[in-house]
Amino acid sequence: MSDKIHRFLLENLNVRGEWVSLSSSWQEIQKTADYPLAVKLVLGEALVAISLLAESLKFDGSLVLQIQGTSPVTMLVVQASSDGAIRGIARWQGDIEDDLTFNQLFGAGTMVISIENNPRPGAQQGERYQSMVSLEGSSLAACFSDYFSQSEQLNTEMWLAVNEMNAVGLLLQSLPVKNTKESIADSDGWNHAQLLADTLSNDKGKQELLTLDSKTLLHRLYHDDDLRLYDESPIRFECSCSQDKIEGTIFSLGEVEANEIVVEQGSINIDCEFCNQHYKLDKVDVTRIFTNDDTTLGTTNGSGSVH
Ligand SMILES: [Zn+2]
Repeated sequence: MSDKIHRFLLENLNVRGEWVSLSSSWQEIQKTADYPLAVKLVLGEALVAISLLAESLKFDGSLVLQIQGTSPVTMLVVQASSDGAIRGIARWQGDIEDDLTFNQLFGAGTMVISIENNPRPGAQQGERYQSMVSLEGSSLAACFSDYFSQSEQLNTEMWLAVNEMNAVGLLLQSLPVKNTKESIADSDGWNHAQLLADTLSNDKGKQELLTLDSKTLLHRLYHDDDLRLYDESPIRFECSCSQDKIEGTIFSLGEVEANEIVVEQGSINIDCEFCNQHYKLDKVDVTRIFTNDDTTLGTTNGSGSVH
């Protein structure tokens, strides 16, 4: 299995779909923290879900899913950009049993999906859209079903399966059919496609999702239908942290505070939570940041955030 997304069309059913598989990107993201198994698996599901969602939206920017939980998982953030880069982290408290359910992991929480468009040329910031999603579903896929039923006019559903090697998912969405004056969904086509994909919900089906390549899996499900597979596109683990952004963060701290840290600790040390990249800035760096009056600092936007 590799790291890619594959779009497809079930032409006779008026349903479009995406299949995503994360392998080395998923294994690299797991290494950034010592995740308990149950946290790891839900993080993998979230990475697949955000990749599927990013591919289904036509946008230029990044898509962020954030779950703020109560306990034991207090926070989960995953991000997918329109160019195929993904990253994610989760934070938890105490020991976590392997068999905790989705609801037991997050307790009472909120889930927010944000679309951040890249700025247009000349603009400081791109447009942002946020949606709150109920965490009442019994799984992440069920929460996404609620989200789609509120935000999409078209039937949309996803199926997810994760182990420590691979994280895989399938998304189906009905297409509007122009057979009358209005566009309507082909409900028979949707029901047929959805019923077959639902065989991926049980343990045997999840095993198939985790082990079969897209062509084999889709052929197994839809061999009687008109399946058209489009070109696949790659997905990779990539963090958007950088020396520039770190220097921007230090600039926003202010010269007095930055110098105090250097005096106390010898240098300013910052670890990126998403990729564990270590940034160390000494007295010379700090002096440069605050004496530089050329355009170098302009590239940091003086941002208060490392990410
Ligand atoms: Zn990073």
